[in-house]
Amino acid sequence: MNKIAQIFQTLDYGPAPEGPEQANAWLDAHGRKFGHFIDGRWTKPGKTFSSDNPATGESLAQISDGTAEDVDAAVKAARAAFKSWSALSGYERGKYLYAIARAVQKHSRLFAVLETMDNGKPIRESRDIDIPLVARHFYHHAGWAQQLSREFPDAVPYGVCGQIIPWNFPLLMLAWKIAPALAAGNTVILKPAEFTSLTALLFAEICERVGLPKGVVNIVTGEGATGQAITAHAGIDKIAFTGSTEVGKAIRAVTAGSGKGLSLELGGKSPYIVFEDADVDSAIEGLIDAIWFNQGQVCCAGSRLLVQESIEARFITKLKKRMQSLRVGDPLDKSIDIGAMIAPVQVERIRDLMQRGVAEGAEVYEPDGQLPAKGCFLKPALVTNVSPANTLVAEEIFGPVLVAMSFRTPEEAVQLANNTKYGLAATIWSENINLALDIAPQIKAGVVWINGTNNFDAAVGFGGYKESGFGREGGREGMSAYLKPAWEKDLKPAPAAKVVEAKVGNPLDGSHLDQTAKLYIGGKQARPDSGYSRAVLDPSGKLIGEAGDGNRKDIRNAVEAARAALGWATTPAHSRAQILYFLAENLDYRRDEFAARIKLQTGHDGAEEVALSVERLFAFAGWADKYDGAVHNPPLRAVAAAMIEPLGVMGIVAPPSRPLLGSIALIAPALAMGNTVVLVPSSQSPLSLADLYQVIETSDVPNGVINIVTGDSVALAKTLAEHDGVDGLWFAGDAEASAMVEKASTSNLKPTWTSRGLYFDLADRRFEGDYFLSKATQVKNVWIPYGA
Ligand code: NAD
Repeated sequence: MNKIAQIFQTLDYGPAPEGPEQANAWLDAHGRKFGHFIDGRWTKPGKTFSSDNPATGESLAQISDGTAEDVDAAVKAARAAFKSWSALSGYERGKYLYAIARAVQKHSRLFAVLETMDNGKPIRESRDIDIPLVARHFYHHAGWAQQLSREFPDAVPYGVCGQIIPWNFPLLMLAWKIAPALAAGNTVILKPAEFTSLTALLFAEICERVGLPKGVVNIVTGEGATGQAITAHAGIDKIAFTGSTEVGKAIRAVTAGSGKGLSLELGGKSPYIVFEDADVDSAIEGLIDAIWFNQGQVCCAGSRLLVQESIEARFITKLKKRMQSLRVGDPLDKSIDIGAMIAPVQVERIRDLMQRGVAEGAEVYEPDGQLPAKGCFLKPALVTNVSPANTLVAEEIFGPVLVAMSFRTPEEAVQLANNTKYGLAATIWSENINLALDIAPQIKAGVVWINGTNNFDAAVGFGGYKESGFGREGGREGMSAYLKPAWEKDLKPAPAAKVVEAKVGNPLDGSHLDQTAKLYIGGKQARPDSGYSRAVLDPSGKLIGEAGDGNRKDIRNAVEAARAALGWATTPAHSRAQILYFLAENLDYRRDEFAARIKLQTGHDGAEEVALSVERLFAFAGWADKYDGAVHNPPLRAVAAAMIEPLGVMGIVAPPSRPLLGSIALIAPALAMGNTVVLVPSSQSPLSLADLYQVIETSDVPNGVINIVTGDSVALAKTLAEHDGVDGLWFAGDAEASAMVEKASTSNLKPTWTSRGLYFDLADRRFEGDYFLSKATQVKNVWIPYGA
């Protein structure tokens, strides 16, 4: 038989190697040793470590381990460059981004080969996915640079951004960070992951080549300690981090109280839901991409298969058969499906996790065939017979391991899908568009793919819910993450709250005792658990009333009531608006009484504050059905619906100033967007809110949507921050307490807004719009394919 006939017999793949010569020549030209790229120059290599090719174990180059001094030099360079870079017109900055995009395209094969050698991912992926998406990001953001002044008229860049990225998509994560930062006018210090610095260093050369002004992009290589030097540096205005949830939490704690902007793109354990009416063959192909793309080292990997029980057996049989044809091996071979894991330590970690899962009862299926004799290779694995508590179901494995479970009903699918601390992505397969679009909003994740998987585009935001982090990359929301309001720099310190001495006298004297304000929980007035009340004094120190001294238990009850009321989120926006209008109207009827109460507490005429509160409720009632999403047209046969969703249960701690407006201005945007609220009114002047209970009751606000706990606002803020049932927290108060709130909120990574001791004049109409609306919401992008 001749050779061609033989090939037709076996249909085996022939070798299709991609040559490493040019990448090796580039490494040789640098003596296989690199310094940092700081202020447009290359530093002399310092103490170095090796960057290895995980497919062969060979060292590719020596990389400098950045010190605190290196980071400091980079921050100085970035600071010096910021003034002129941010002063350039958007058009000028856009031209640089465009030039970078062009240059990446011109050298795309060199980038792809170098990436594959350094990271171990198949060349098919680096060539066809990573690098084209890098170019797309720079093109897209070149456009944003130019449109910025029109689209974000009152915004300015943060300044110097510290950016820390992981090893799984080295150049792509760099592009996701650097492109929007530069478009907005920031300058950056980027630290690649220690395993994969090479394409970032090649990128630095591209910056040189396009003539990017010195200091605008600085690349400092190194390990975790270099990252720590970045997050702790006082000269950095914003930290953008992509990596593990564990390190993300450490960064949340370290940056607490620093005033630095922060976005966190963290880990995931994304569900891949297959309904019985799915196109099974397509769902299997999708699943192959979902979990074995990049060896499963993907934050949004569809690593938890949830398949409807009626098709489970057939689906698993087909999947195993398909797994047999996956080819594991040399990532530079163009017909390889699964390349090398990043490093021996990762292989060990995955093996350990597998052992634990098996000890807990899991069964593991792996296809036949041999792995290459050397290098960090693992076979694709399918894990069955697991309960939700199995380590392999609960933990992010970050490897080629799929765990499979079944469900009976759509409700059960949603429950299982959401039964995770993560919330990055989800996939839904069904031929029934009604079902798919019913499930998508119920999944707590930042990205949902319908009948598809792992779609990414620069115009579509990407990022997580829950412990998958906060902030988005890509799209309008990603752009806004690198901008802040121009007026923030003019904020003055809030005046220190006056300590009023209580006038000595018999507290049982006087007419005030006809009312002791209780708490308001789940639609009912409740006595504080402590059994104590706090004195409320007028500015002269005279006792004017008492309010319940709420404690940890009251907050817990209030959070429980707020969670039970989360149906508010799916109440139509029109109905939420009606209720807010009604609240405004009922408050207005009683304006004189509320004004008098404000006067009693503050000594100031309260009429204006009541009028502003009514107006603010009207404003956000109006916003309820207007602050909504967008439909993106990514360059695929799909639309991505960017849906604005509420955070969930929000803790809101009102400022000491303005007893009524201080609370109304904060709860109105949260409620308009569908959040339920646990409000802690001003400690000094809580009576205006206690008066509001009756107004709330007469305004058709469902029970549990607004809960009010009076007491020591800093102590109650701490409890709210530590509570994992609270999904977002706003705190208006002094700098020290703001830092405490940010730090204490680390455990479930709830997004926070704090006033950091600055005076936010909530009467200002700038707070009537998207400033708080954006902070009360998160964007979920639902990808919907079209075409027959
Ligand atoms: P990692 O958290 O260990 O490291 C990420 C980066 O942080 C590296 O550059 C590392 O050097 C640096 N670092 C480590 N300790 C640090 C510290 N204390 N302070 C500052 N920087 C520090 O993560 P990894 O193992 O490189 O990457 C895998 C993780 O990244 C996975 O959990 C994955 O889900 C996540 N990831 C998330 C996204 C996303 O967009 N959500 C994308 C890719 C990867």
